[in-house]
Amino acid sequence: MTRPTATILDFDETITIRHTARNKSLYTPANNTKTGLEKVALHDDDHIVAIATFHYDPDYVLSYLLPLLQLDLADMHKEVVPLTHHTIYKYHFQGKKYPILISIAEYKNGEPILKDKNIPLRDITGNLPLCSEYSFYDDSPQNLKKVTDAEDLSYFSTYLVPNWIKEIFSPLAPRKAKLSYDVILLIKNLENYKIQRGASPHEYRGWGSFFSFNFLGYSKHAKIRAVDGLINYLKTGEQIDIGHQGPLSDGNLAIILDDFSKSYGRNWYDLRPQIDQQPAFILRE
Ligand SMILES: [Mg+2]
Repeated sequence: MTRPTATILDFDETITIRHTARNKSLYTPANNTKTGLEKVALHDDDHIVAIATFHYDPDYVLSYLLPLLQLDLADMHKEVVPLTHHTIYKYHFQGKKYPILISIAEYKNGEPILKDKNIPLRDITGNLPLCSEYSFYDDSPQNLKKVTDAEDLSYFSTYLVPNWIKEIFSPLAPRKAKLSYDVILLIKNLENYKIQRGASPHEYRGWGSFFSFNFLGYSKHAKIRAVDGLINYLKTGEQIDIGHQGPLSDGNLAIILDDFSKSYGRNWYDLRPQIDQQPAFILRE
């Protein structure tokens, strides 16, 4: 199954030449759109474009995409997804497989509630199908740093669009995504498993560990250590101790890993987070 790519763009001074917050009536898509955007602002069966902005007017933001994508408002219906700190507008166009998503800021006392784009990016991702790649473009180095600092957003490749280059959209070389989104979801499931398992009342110590191994599956600690080894492997490519193979193939852990293979069409042990041709497991000395 081929998956679309997702490209998320900031609006002011990423797409626009001048900032539109104060004097939006001065500017139109015709006189205020950077050139060169057509290379990345693609929206078809294989590409999805979305906007994450602090702007307050989603229709105005959309108006800049219409000529770029040759879309007609007559064929559009709008869906509103209100969220706590921002709102996502979904613009559905006839003949388009995916809607265009625009996240705009909510304001309190004249200030946007959110100070960065991390929550909008998470919510946009959650409102898209699973994509093969996620890219984020912004003229704000601060916003980009927030994204690269957030481990759960490391599926994004981030691009600085210098706002000192006014008329031409010319992003700098990206900071490449570290992990794919499906791997991030797998890590989340494993972390939830650890929390549940950690909180479970079945704790075996001493003789208990012996019996738990023999009659009740692997001990809680063996399972949690195995999950830690697996999470570390997914993040760094560092091989997993062979002793963890048993706990990973047992009970709910086996189910989580099997579900991953079924959902995303790949086995976890084939995931190579770094260029690394070693097997997933390493023999204990
Ligand atoms: Mg901007």
